[in-house]
Amino acid sequence: MTTPRTVLVTGGNRGIGYAIAEEFLAQGHRVAVTARSGEGPAGALTVRADVTDAASVDAAFSQVEAELGPVEVVVANAGITKDTLLMRMSDEEFDTVVETNLGGAFRVVKRASKGMLKARWGRIVLISSVVGLYGSAGQVNYAASKAGLVGMARSITRELGARGITANVVAPGFIETDMTAALPEAQQAEYKKNIPAGRFASPNEVARVVTWIAGDDAGYVSGAVIPVDGGLGMGH
Ligand code: NDP
Repeated sequence: MTTPRTVLVTGGNRGIGYAIAEEFLAQGHRVAVTARSGEGPAGALTVRADVTDAASVDAAFSQVEAELGPVEVVVANAGITKDTLLMRMSDEEFDTVVETNLGGAFRVVKRASKGMLKARWGRIVLISSVVGLYGSAGQVNYAASKAGLVGMARSITRELGARGITANVVAPGFIETDMTAALPEAQQAEYKKNIPAGRFASPNEVARVVTWIAGDDAGYVSGAVIPVDGGLGMGH
């Protein structure tokens, strides 16, 4: 049994974030999720936040701190796609995805680092994607934002590693959520052909890796990129 911690997961009202919150709850932690709409799993505190807005992120952290105590584990999970080919991608499509996925993670971990530095303990987990390092046609914006998280985690590791704080990236492959349900069936079948595991994963399979990396046993793992992709991105 790992030490009970106060955990905040962004985008915890559905998909991978919801599953991560459920898994932390099952392991006995105090869990809060941010959501723009809807609620996290039963037993979690749901707070409103838009990760593109620093004031909204700050208010969400203050509410979690008041109700559950300082955030010890933060999972920057909120993310979006706006896929199209480079030639057709508008500045707005590029900027919105980078602002949400990369800028959002920056705002969240910056706010979280205050309390972690004080406590001289913390776990920062950034949810990236296999395509961050593998690349993906039609996802220049998304892949760039997800690759950026690797540099972010590694820089945080160098800045804060001596203060008991780790920062790691979890890079899921294809996970069964609203994000992948939006892909046409033929495209889903094509993707499955290239995945050594031959299937997509359930959100729980990502959640269990996240709880492990945030746990007591993973204190000497930092700046790592941990794939949860059925072998899709091997070598990257
Ligand atoms: P979903 O589309 O199911 O959920 C996305 C979550 O992010 C929602 O909770 C959404 O909130 C939240 N969110 C989006 N924009 C913002 C914002 N500006 N502020 C706050 N919250 C926001 O995604 P998944 O669960 O599939 O993905 C979760 C993470 O995992 C993402 O970072 C994604 O890139 C990554 N990932 C997913 C993969 C997959 O196969 N599904 C593969 C690899 C990585 P709301 O409900 O309010 O919109």
